[in-house]
Amino acid sequence: MYCNIFGHEYQVTKKVTYHVKEYTCRHCKKELTTNSNGTLTELTPKFKEINAILERIHTTRMERLKRKSITSSIYSQLV
Ligand SMILES: [Zn+2]
Repeated sequence: MYCNIFGHEYQVTKKVTYHVKEYTCRHCKKELTTNSNGTLTELTPKFKEINAILERIHTTRMERLKRKSITSSIYSQLV
């Protein structure tokens, strides 16, 4: 009801990657996500699945980057 009159008030509830986020309306708990076009769309079970995969890829990539930068900083100290 509230949202019909005032519109949804979305808050970021999860950062999946740099570009993809999940949003929830403060009032009606409606969920949105960023899709591959960069626009907002309803967070359906399908998108939840996609986001879970994206998140896993993103986390793995970040871990690898972190490890790489540690290695290269050790390397630069040695050289
Ligand atoms: Zn709402």
